[in-house]
Amino acid sequence: MKAASFDYIRAKSIDEVCSALNQGDGEAQIIAGGQTLIPLMAMRMSRPQTLVDINDIEELRGIEVAEKVAMIKAGTRQADVLSSIEIRNNLPILSEALGHVGHTQTRNRGTIGGSLVAADPSSEICLIAQLLDATMIAKSTAGTRSIPANQFFDSAMVTSLKDGECLMEIDFPIWNQKRTGFGFHETSIRDSDYALAAASAQIAIGGNNKCERVHLAVGGATPSPLRLNEVETALIGSVLDDSVIDDAVSLIPNLLEPQSDVHASAEYRRRVTCVLAARAIRDARDRAQGKFS
Ligand SMILES: Cc1cc2nc3c(=O)[nH]c(=O)nc-3n(C[C@H](O)[C@H](O)[C@H](O)COP(=O)(O)OP(=O)(O)OC[C@H]3O[C@@H](n4cnc5c(N)ncnc54)[C@H](O)[C@@H]3O)c2cc1C
Repeated sequence: MKAASFDYIRAKSIDEVCSALNQGDGEAQIIAGGQTLIPLMAMRMSRPQTLVDINDIEELRGIEVAEKVAMIKAGTRQADVLSSIEIRNNLPILSEALGHVGHTQTRNRGTIGGSLVAADPSSEICLIAQLLDATMIAKSTAGTRSIPANQFFDSAMVTSLKDGECLMEIDFPIWNQKRTGFGFHETSIRDSDYALAAASAQIAIGGNNKCERVHLAVGGATPSPLRLNEVETALIGSVLDDSVIDDAVSLIPNLLEPQSDVHASAEYRRRVTCVLAARAIRDARDRAQGKFS
């Protein structure tokens, strides 16, 4: 099938993007890498009247790392973030997760912002944004606003971005605790396919070997990536031996309401999510303790 006809604007500035979106009555849509939008248009599941191309806008590309935050412009290619040494040194969990996003070819075109706005339940980038409490910065003709990750993902493929808003930048907090480690695991039918279930954890261990800080999030098995605060509470303040982790992870089945589909049953997703979460927590603990990098 071919896409329905559309008008095309190759924008040169963010202001031009915002005014084109504003004039479109909700019928104009941004195109970034096109890796999600073009297939949807080809299947006529999306029929924008006007495509606003942001690929020429330099302001929407780049990575800046400060002491406590990594700022990634929305139009930065996934491949550029994956190959960034600064991101690998300061936000290694994002580098790890990006290695699972699609294929080299899709990462060469796909952008960080496009993935967040597409909000696929299995998106690794959305999962890490939720895990780390990232902040999305959006601009429209009405002004600029910041949206915390826990208010950004509404449901599968739906975000709280309003008509006319362009996602400009994503700010990922950097943890400064010395003994910090991460874990990321997913399972998919074939390598690089969308995840059936995924889990990620970041842990800081204190001087007394107890868990000082922990974030845990799961994806794929839920409409949007989900932080598991109850499990975090069960881990915090403890020495993370395997029995503590197993007890905390045993809370997960009651926190999830996965859906069955042609790829996997709800029960499979629930069970696998627990296994992946336990692995992610153990990896995060071991890395924080310097057992592997
Ligand atoms: C074969 C294949 C395998 C894939 N595998 C995976 C996978 O394993 N994991 C995964 O997470 N993804 C996967 N993807 C999706 C891929 O990561 C896409 O790159 C990503 O989802 C969309 O990014 P994009 O830049 O291509 O956005 P586009 O397709 O251009 O846009 C996607 C949506 O975001 C909107 N948008 C884009 N940028 C902005 C912005 N700055 N402000 C506001 N709205 C914006 C568009 O209007 C559109 O609605 C796969 C894609 C393909 C084709």
